[in-house]
Amino acid sequence: PKNLWVLGDGQLGAMLSHAGQPLGINVRPVDIMTPSDVQLPLLADDIITAEREQWPESQLSLQLSQHAHFINGPVFGRLADRFTQKSLLDELSVATSPWQLVDDNTSTEALHSAYGERVLLKRRTGGYDGKGQHWLKQNEATTIPDDWRNEAIAEQAINFDEEVSLVGVRTQDGRCLFYPLTLNLHQDGILMASIAPLSRLATLQAEAETMLSKVMNGLNYVGVMAMECFRVGEHLMVNELAPRVHNSGHWTQAGCHINQFELHLRALCNLPLHQPQVNFQCVMVNLIGVDKDDRWLSLPNAELFWYNKEVRVGRKVGHLNLSVHNKTMLEDSINQLKIWMPQQYQAPLDWILAEFA
Ligand code: ATP
Ligand code: MG
Ligand code: MG
Repeated sequence: PKNLWVLGDGQLGAMLSHAGQPLGINVRPVDIMTPSDVQLPLLADDIITAEREQWPESQLSLQLSQHAHFINGPVFGRLADRFTQKSLLDELSVATSPWQLVDDNTSTEALHSAYGERVLLKRRTGGYDGKGQHWLKQNEATTIPDDWRNEAIAEQAINFDEEVSLVGVRTQDGRCLFYPLTLNLHQDGILMASIAPLSRLATLQAEAETMLSKVMNGLNYVGVMAMECFRVGEHLMVNELAPRVHNSGHWTQAGCHINQFELHLRALCNLPLHQPQVNFQCVMVNLIGVDKDDRWLSLPNAELFWYNKEVRVGRKVGHLNLSVHNKTMLEDSINQLKIWMPQQYQAPLDWILAEFA
């Protein structure tokens, strides 16, 4: 069978392995964080991908990233750095929030006069789940941290209506296919829940597909890519891009006949692929900093994905996919989760109920 190596061995690598099994693809996630002198038994026709945008240089990561079939090799570094990612969006004329590099000469006054009262500083690299962000608020006289100069960008705060994302794929012969847009709810910078598809987002689908096509074609990309957006009125602005499978695409595991993990594998291995069919609408609820609770398995429309990670505050440790083909059943499940889940889940679960009210 074909070997497909994954730089990184987190939940995305695990779910890629899961998807590879029925296809007869031997997906091998690699822990590149623990130093090791073993040589991986890479073969010339193996395929290499990454489940993260960034990794430390080590014997293992070099062995993988220098392989001739490390697909999208140069893209990871380019998108891992917000400076080069935002530059790419500007070059391709894809709408994104106005921004600039924070360098030695940048003053808070200049940032406020360019972007207004609230300015968001984001570390160029390493940020996720809202980490590595710092708000500058004019009325609180917040300042630029010294060690953020040249290491961060400043963005205009976008007063968006809601957040959506598009997960798409590009094949080796340049075809682009997409799932329907996903509606995302973030709380404190971290994704709490997603809903897809949603008929009221259909009017934004074409614009979103045009934007992500420009990016994937511009990068000559192969595989699944995710594009997080802000909806501002009838239009979208790109917040950020991820050159991989994405949390906001996890609903496809339950909702589509080809999920995002399988779609990524098919594209990377140059296997036939076609438009994924949607089986039913889904709600995805992230399990963040909560212990595993087997009662979740009693929900009749739920699928549990538990990542087997140590539970820590604010850490994603699993997700639940809930099907919506029976609306009453969905509402019952969400109400049940409201009883079982801690305080920080009340608002996101109410948001889901409101979307179906
Ligand atoms: P992820 O875990 O998705 O990779 P991240 O840490 O890389 O997240 P972003 O996606 O850039 O960070 O931002 C996290 C959240 O912060 C966004 O989903 C959005 O809710 C909010 N946010 C980001 N940029 C802006 C902005 N310019 N204006 C207003 N809110 C923003
Ligand atoms: Mg990010
Ligand atoms: Mg994000």
